[in-house]
Amino acid sequence: MIRKHEHWLLALVIAGGMVLCWLVFSRCTSVSLNEYVEGLTWRQVNHQVVLNHRLQSNQAKLMEPVRTDVLTVTPWLAPIVWEGTFDPLVIDEAFRSHNLTIATTVFAVGKYTRFLCDFLESAEKHFMVGLDVHYYVFTDLPGDVPSNMTLGVGRLLSIVSVPKFDRWQEISLRRMELIQTAIEDHIHREAHYIFCLDVDMRFHGRVGSEALGRLVAAIHPWFYMYPRSQYPYERRAVSTASVPQDQGDFYYQANIFGGVLEDVHRLTKTCRENLEVDKSVGVEAVWQEESHLNWYLVKNKPTKLLSPEYVWDDARGRATKEIKLVRFSSVIKNKAEVRENP
Ligand code: UDP
Ligand code: MN
Repeated sequence: MIRKHEHWLLALVIAGGMVLCWLVFSRCTSVSLNEYVEGLTWRQVNHQVVLNHRLQSNQAKLMEPVRTDVLTVTPWLAPIVWEGTFDPLVIDEAFRSHNLTIATTVFAVGKYTRFLCDFLESAEKHFMVGLDVHYYVFTDLPGDVPSNMTLGVGRLLSIVSVPKFDRWQEISLRRMELIQTAIEDHIHREAHYIFCLDVDMRFHGRVGSEALGRLVAAIHPWFYMYPRSQYPYERRAVSTASVPQDQGDFYYQANIFGGVLEDVHRLTKTCRENLEVDKSVGVEAVWQEESHLNWYLVKNKPTKLLSPEYVWDDARGRATKEIKLVRFSSVIKNKAEVRENP
């Protein structure tokens, strides 16, 4: 009697197991088919589910602006990127399938190589995460470039040798030329976008695909609350960087600018030519390449502007209420000590 009972139980367990196996198997094959057809991995399928959910739940409301305390679009209809104006998940998804490579130039000449470690370490955590990044470190001291740094998947570092300059201003004056030449020589084949960054900086928060655009510049953290009459543009007519009092939209900081290769190439080429014209008549613009960059951006409007979240300055201390998040910031340095001839 007991034996017969056991047989029944065993048969039940075997039948249950077979049904379970069939269920698992049929689910796996249907996902494999999906993967085959759409090229999706399990992770991507899950990501898609989360994204669809977010897209449904976070619908943009036309009558409910996300920020009312700051300008989020320029008079020429370029967006100004502030925390709250974009959804990281949605914007990353929009760029993901393009398989983009972002060239990133950074100069570390003389004692400025000391900033490289923190710069790169923080960039690996926050800068264009999920995209391919190719750092180009321009230096006169290749041996001082950190060699034990582990870069994320799809991220590369190349060293570009440059001569040592006599005056620190010379680097600022030569940077445009060196970037222009590097774009022509090889970067145009190696990337879709390029960002040109100062090295005495650290990333603290996300700087990602929301920063990509044809021509991108960042609003200077020290001047955005002032009228343009107080922007430190070059005003002397003798310089090619001269901006008349009744012109100019924003004052941009040269610590970060970028865009697609073609547009950044045109920018660097024009600024380089103007810098050389100035030099030939013995003029140096008040803020060197930054003055020329600002002149260029008065004439050629950037297609996307980064708020001062993207170029803060530690020397400004705690951010003000419109800055919800500091993403990239200049570190405090002893200029007299790091610069060759202050
Ligand atoms: N730089 C350099 N070596 C120098 C001076 C400047 O490599 O001796 C590079 C470096 O990338 C630096 C950038 O030029 O971030 C701009 O110079 P700096 O940061 O001194 O100018 P600031 O941001 O203080 O106006
Ligand atoms: Mn700097």
